[in-house]
Amino acid sequence: MEFTFSTEDEAFRVEVRAWMAEHLVGEYAALGTGADMGEGDELEVRRAWERELAAGGWVGMGWPVEYGGRDLPLTQQMIFSEEYARAGGPQRVGFFGEQLLGPTLMMFGTEEHKQRFLPPILRAEEFWCQGFSEPDAGSDLANVKTNATRDGDEWVINGQKVWTSLGHIADWIFVVCKTDPSAAKKHQGITFILCPIDQPGVEMRPITQITGTAEFNEVFFSDARTSADLAVGPIGEGWKVVMATLGFERGTAFLAQQLRFAEEYHSVVDFAKHSGHAGDPIIRQRLADSYIGLEIMRLTGLRTVTKILQGGQPGPESSIGKLHWSKWHQRLGELEMDLMGADGQILAGDDDDRDPEHRIRDMQYTFQFSRAHTIYAGSSEIQRNIVGERVLGLPRDPA
Ligand SMILES: Cc1cc2nc3c(=O)[nH]c(=O)nc-3n(C[C@H](O)[C@H](O)[C@H](O)COP(=O)(O)OP(=O)(O)OC[C@H]3O[C@@H](n4cnc5c(N)ncnc54)[C@H](O)[C@@H]3O)c2cc1C
Repeated sequence: MEFTFSTEDEAFRVEVRAWMAEHLVGEYAALGTGADMGEGDELEVRRAWERELAAGGWVGMGWPVEYGGRDLPLTQQMIFSEEYARAGGPQRVGFFGEQLLGPTLMMFGTEEHKQRFLPPILRAEEFWCQGFSEPDAGSDLANVKTNATRDGDEWVINGQKVWTSLGHIADWIFVVCKTDPSAAKKHQGITFILCPIDQPGVEMRPITQITGTAEFNEVFFSDARTSADLAVGPIGEGWKVVMATLGFERGTAFLAQQLRFAEEYHSVVDFAKHSGHAGDPIIRQRLADSYIGLEIMRLTGLRTVTKILQGGQPGPESSIGKLHWSKWHQRLGELEMDLMGADGQILAGDDDDRDPEHRIRDMQYTFQFSRAHTIYAGSSEIQRNIVGERVLGLPRDPA
């Protein structure tokens, strides 16, 4: 596979670079690249940044033109991600709408769903979160207990979701509900329902993590109501809709990650040089090891890209990539802690004199937040099951 970019692609790169230089300034640039989403006013700035991107035509750029996208080829989407990471673009709070719900609606939604929900995602006017996991339904997602029953022309939803990322920023939630408790099998009788968050029946409670920040939430549904026509896909057959959404999450959505990690890796090397650790043979070895891991990540990502460019879809081999990058980033976080030495042990705040450039804070954040990488979007054990069963052809997990 040839991975040089065409002249057209390179012209596109120049366009993106210029746009980022012109627009990622002031309060947008101040958001930084960290995974910490902040709170209060900062959340508003993040939403405004999404609208800025939308106005520039960078939201849904790969979506088909018929749904308001630009149908840009994968190579240009990759270039955008690359330049976005290079410019230090902030974490995207529009992720769930653009990357997960949008493609799901294009596949399973009615014409009304598409007309109603896709344009506000593209304009970054409505934000979404993913209501899948529950206290007893994570890896075993089919075990969901949140239920939806029909009352006239509405669904009435009761139950609890948990670990709902960006729920406190979102306007809507896509909820996996049990609609037929008498279904013979666990993954039957499930429906994928769209529900507005701003109503008395939905309570969003942020969960503060070891990082000291709260990016995800518990969500309680107490007679929450949503219109009966907001079920996506056939009623009771939501499992295949769920599987498609998870496919988007585990497929291409993480491709841009490697570029962000590369930026982070280089800043760690920089830090090691300034702190005088770069001469330490053990540290040098760990940095070299980390660089090799980064290259493995890049090549594994390109394998997925190649498959898509050749007309295929990301398959179970995406799990290999997920297993690798999640562990790689955890190890980088451990290295960052070691480089900081005693300074790393005291959590840096926003106005910390030791840390005017927020480097300590960012590195501590990586160490702490990366613990989650081997859990979300399919835990490492689940990824190994997928690789074992679907790549290596081993017997199925008895669970
Ligand atoms: C940062 C973060 C963000 C998240 N965001 C969202 C979100 O926006 N929306 C959402 O719905 N969910 C979200 N989640 C939840 C995430 O999807 C679940 O945490 C994940 O699916 C694991 O489920 P669980 O936490 O219930 O753990 P469990 O499924 O209870 O697993 C516990 C342990 O058992 C292991 N295990 C489970 N089943 C098997 C098996 N069959 N074989 C071998 N080992 C097994 C697991 O690997 C794990 O080590 C998020 C999680 C995190 C950490």
